Amino acid sequence: MNDQQLLRYARHILLDEFGIEGQERLHASRVLIVGAGGLGSPAALYLASAGVGHIVLADDDVVDLSNLQRQILHNTSRVGAAKAQSGKQTLHDINPEIRIDALVARLDGQALDEQVSLADLVLDCCDNFATRHAVNRSCVRYRKPLVSGAAIRFAGQVSVFDLRRADAPCYHCLFPEADDVEELRCATTGVLGPLVGIVGSMQAAEAIKVLAQMGEPMVGRMLCLDALAMQWQTIRFKRDPHCAVCAGREAR
Ligand SMILES: [Zn+2]
Repeated sequence: MNDQQLLRYARHILLDEFGIEGQERLHASRVLIVGAGGLGSPAALYLASAGVGHIVLADDDVVDLSNLQRQILHNTSRVGAAKAQSGKQTLHDINPEIRIDALVARLDGQALDEQVSLADLVLDCCDNFATRHAVNRSCVRYRKPLVSGAAIRFAGQVSVFDLRRADAPCYHCLFPEADDVEELRCATTGVLGPLVGIVGSMQAAEAIKVLAQMGEPMVGRMLCLDALAMQWQTIRFKRDPHCAVCAGREAR
């Protein structure tokens, strides 16, 4: 690390649990962020600022004026631009020292598998169940740690599925895929702007902990926030031995 890098990351390096070693681990890491919207914005901003060496930002959508109330990667001049490209520009302005790939695509199938297999960690910052389950299946397949977040109206939730660990549940263990689940969308139900900031920032914090190998990530725990009461609830859950996605999975 050169002097400029030591200065840029000084407040992390000062932390005993983090140190130069943690910083170097971040620098050597490749992270896939699925979604450059409300959750992906703060998550990507903090991971780029922290010096994650390679960030892949995937989103097939374009910036809409109604996104700017909460999607802080983007700005008014980028309305109509691809979110992945707009996000890349913002991240590059903050930290030109890292590599940022913008994927203007809704990742699924082989393309998703390829990106997950190349990543050290995946952040699920998407807004629909089909993608959430596809990302989970791929993370199970390639044994990658998955940091999952969701937010709608005044409710947020965040958890870590560290699929390198044999005892760690997957997303499907907690939320089995079902056809009759009604999907709430921010576009129709609304969402409190800072709520996605809180949840996305927690995803970044958990990702940094996993990558720098410090602390105890939220594995087997989900934190649920009621932003109207501003109260957190912890839900503990275990691996489902009959899970259709991860049953039979062993430790790496
Ligand atoms: Zn499972």
